[in-house]
Amino acid sequence: MFIGHYAVSFAFKAKEDKVSLGLLFIAVQFIDILFFPLTLLGIEKFKLIENFTQSTHFQLEFMPYSHSLLAVLLWAIIAYFLLPLVFGERFGVISGDHKSKNNKGRKEGTGSKKVAALIALAVLLHWLLDFIVHTPDLPLLIDNSNKVGLGLWNNDLLTYLLEAVLVIGGLYLYMKATGVKSTQVKVSQVNTTEVNISKVKAKVNRIIGRYGMPIFVVLLLLINLT
Ligand SMILES: [Zn+2]
Repeated sequence: MFIGHYAVSFAFKAKEDKVSLGLLFIAVQFIDILFFPLTLLGIEKFKLIENFTQSTHFQLEFMPYSHSLLAVLLWAIIAYFLLPLVFGERFGVISGDHKSKNNKGRKEGTGSKKVAALIALAVLLHWLLDFIVHTPDLPLLIDNSNKVGLGLWNNDLLTYLLEAVLVIGGLYLYMKATGVKSTQVKVSQVNTTEVNISKVKAKVNRIIGRYGMPIFVVLLLLINLT
């Protein structure tokens, strides 16, 4: 699974606005991100084999630290406890919230547990989606034994359709939940230059909000075609 993982990011952002979409993008791809330095260091292994499956040209031989079920569970638990510590009181607070006084979100810990849980779940769900498409190369334990995978990669078309349906469905939820938030220009701003700059900024934000993510998804779908 490649682009389908992003569906989880979009769906979780739609569910909980306080969780950062950027952080969710990293979380859903975390074990793949981890896989690359581990292979470069020779700790995990894959072999390039043309047409190994209809969808892939590699055989994943050894990846217990990034892609075993047990390792992914551990990574998710680590993310759950570590992220609130790293980000401190900013974690689980919508940007801008911290400026207002008496904001419940400002209180350390409020909302951060839910956000941490969503990030951890996003890390974990990568494995579940991989399980559908991978050939039996996903170890259950860190000793690389008992490998599993349903092997959808053996069907090019079904793999593409599944990824497309997932990512488009996720994007739909995200667009529906976030809408297009217009940034209001404050009436109190007396300086006309400031007002104009704010208006331009608001317009740019609107354009990014409306078209940014759909363009991103279309690009992903095109890249996935190649
Ligand atoms: Zn993966």
